[in-house]
Amino acid sequence: MRQVAVDAWVEHSGMLNPGGQYAAGRAARRVLDDARELIASLLDADPVEVIFTGSGTEADNLAVTGLYRASDATRVVASPLEHSAVLKSVQALGADVEWLPVADGRVSDLTALDSPAALAACMWANNETGAIQPVAQIVERAAAAGTPVHVDAVQVVGHLPVSFRELGATTLAASAHKFGGPRSGGLLLARRSPAPTPILFGGGQERAIRPGTLDVATAAATAAALEEAVGEMAAEEARLTALRDRLRAGILSRVEDVVVHTTEPALPGHLHLSFPGAESDSLIMLLDAAGIEAATGSTCAAGVNRVSHILEAMGVPERVARGAVRFTVGRTSTEEDVDAVLAVIADTVERARLAGMAG
Ligand code: PLP
Repeated sequence: MRQVAVDAWVEHSGMLNPGGQYAAGRAARRVLDDARELIASLLDADPVEVIFTGSGTEADNLAVTGLYRASDATRVVASPLEHSAVLKSVQALGADVEWLPVADGRVSDLTALDSPAALAACMWANNETGAIQPVAQIVERAAAAGTPVHVDAVQVVGHLPVSFRELGATTLAASAHKFGGPRSGGLLLARRSPAPTPILFGGGQERAIRPGTLDVATAAATAAALEEAVGEMAAEEARLTALRDRLRAGILSRVEDVVVHTTEPALPGHLHLSFPGAESDSLIMLLDAAGIEAATGSTCAAGVNRVSHILEAMGVPERVARGAVRFTVGRTSTEEDVDAVLAVIADTVERARLAGMAG
């Protein structure tokens, strides 16, 4: 968490319920309103369009399910590269889903958007590869067919410029912990019309789309983090791109047979690659032992390794996908961190390849 977010959270953690009509409630309400206005101005949205949620996952669920229920149609168009928060929401609708084709890590053929649907869903940037998706074209094509669009911008907000107004999407999801805000601080931007039909029921908070008593401290901390992130964005983009490029060049010059999954245009901090012949989990464990915190593209459910659905959708062969590792550089990363990876990467990959594939 950024220090400005910690400070804002601590400062407001003792506030009362912003729904209270008494003076302390009104004071909390003012802090909430200020946070909403600041976030709206940073994302070029209307304050009424900002809905505080408990996570990016919750924002994605409210949008996908809510927009589907707001429509009479049963057809949905979606990208197969979505984070599971959108992917599983779409799969749970019981809708007639048309998945957009993928080429080079991006949705490619947008023809499916030319026929009307209850909604279309496509992320702005992919969480594993960092690949930036053609969201502006998607919104334009869908709008021509009268289809509302949900954009999962969890990886983009606070990292690249976002104008909700200019993009023209119907809904957009963000998550505070991705830009140095508190965990469990989510944002849903939702136009007045068409608005998602509520799927949670209770009080009238957040246009009744996200009922429940709001945490003023988290809202204030989210706004403070976003303000700082947006202020640093241009400089950070250049710095992270340089770090990431140095990491990629260093790995490619030290290790044979590397498959790079991150293709441009991509987020500045992402580098997703595979070391065929090695198993992701071995690589992650060896890197972790060397003090390097990398992630695998696969999820390990109930002890069973599953290849990432994103690499699968990209058509990456299983043997290659099983050796995938995602490195991300961020706000606290330095050149020394990159050098620390480069110092051990050749030996790490060699040991993981010797250990071979587990079954
Ligand atoms: N969407 C994307 C693209 C993400 O990367 C993530 C988190 O990793 C989420 C949604 C879920 O956000 P949260 O962790 O706030 O639930």
